[in-house]
Amino acid sequence: MRVGRFSLDGRAPRLGLFKEDAVYEVPGAPIEMLGDIDEAAVLRGPRHELARVRLLPPVARPSKVLCVGINYVPHMEESDFERPAEPIFFSKLPSAIIGPDEAIILPKAAPRRVDYEAELVVVVGRRGRDIEAAEALEHVAGYTVGNDVSARDWQLKKPGAQWLLGKSFDTFLPLGPWIVTPDEFGDPASRRVRCTVNGEQLQEDALANLIFDIPALIAYVSQVATLEPGDLIMTGTPGGVGQSRTPPRWLQDGDVVETSIDSIGGIRNPVRASPA
Ligand code: MG
Repeated sequence: MRVGRFSLDGRAPRLGLFKEDAVYEVPGAPIEMLGDIDEAAVLRGPRHELARVRLLPPVARPSKVLCVGINYVPHMEESDFERPAEPIFFSKLPSAIIGPDEAIILPKAAPRRVDYEAELVVVVGRRGRDIEAAEALEHVAGYTVGNDVSARDWQLKKPGAQWLLGKSFDTFLPLGPWIVTPDEFGDPASRRVRCTVNGEQLQEDALANLIFDIPALIAYVSQVATLEPGDLIMTGTPGGVGQSRTPPRWLQDGDVVETSIDSIGGIRNPVRASPA
């Protein structure tokens, strides 16, 4: 199943089941109940053409957004990192989340070195602490696509390196277009993640190449914090980010960034300068 949030005619957000070119209203199901949605019953209910609705981020305000720094070898090499012995976690503020088609705004304080990072995002479905890797996938509600937009000057050049702030400017977390449940997503190792800017493919890799796989990430981070339904785990980005290109490829006003993953789909976000 593909489950997400949408708005019709500017009205309050609703939960929907997305199927082909339509969305069907799902009567109030929390994230932890996605697997229990009665698809046949929902498909008999209210239906809207996909073209008529506005897609919203599938999770609006998670309690946490947990991100992994260096999780593909090509990105490790282009970033001058050694192979990490344990996952490198950091966070983004949930207030950075935007939906499909919403604009990434180049911040007034950091307009010049804004970069893209296409990533598979795990959506937590079941609460847990100290989760064993062997049981970790039972805590997954599904998967979606994210863009870990980063202002490299703040992330790397500020005193002490401001990873949290450099990656948390408003609009720096495009998310969507919906959550695909694990049964429909299939084996993550067989899926590929991509990023294009203005139609030119700049990132592409297989999820099979993650240095730390999804169970390892869940087991590691749940030693620290209780995972709650709706929490997001961003699994790291492949090689090909803008800062490692010659010359660097920074996002600019008028660019269009598309991030996508096999069997989920993709999101498309225009880039805009800050309003004067
Ligand atoms: Mg990232």
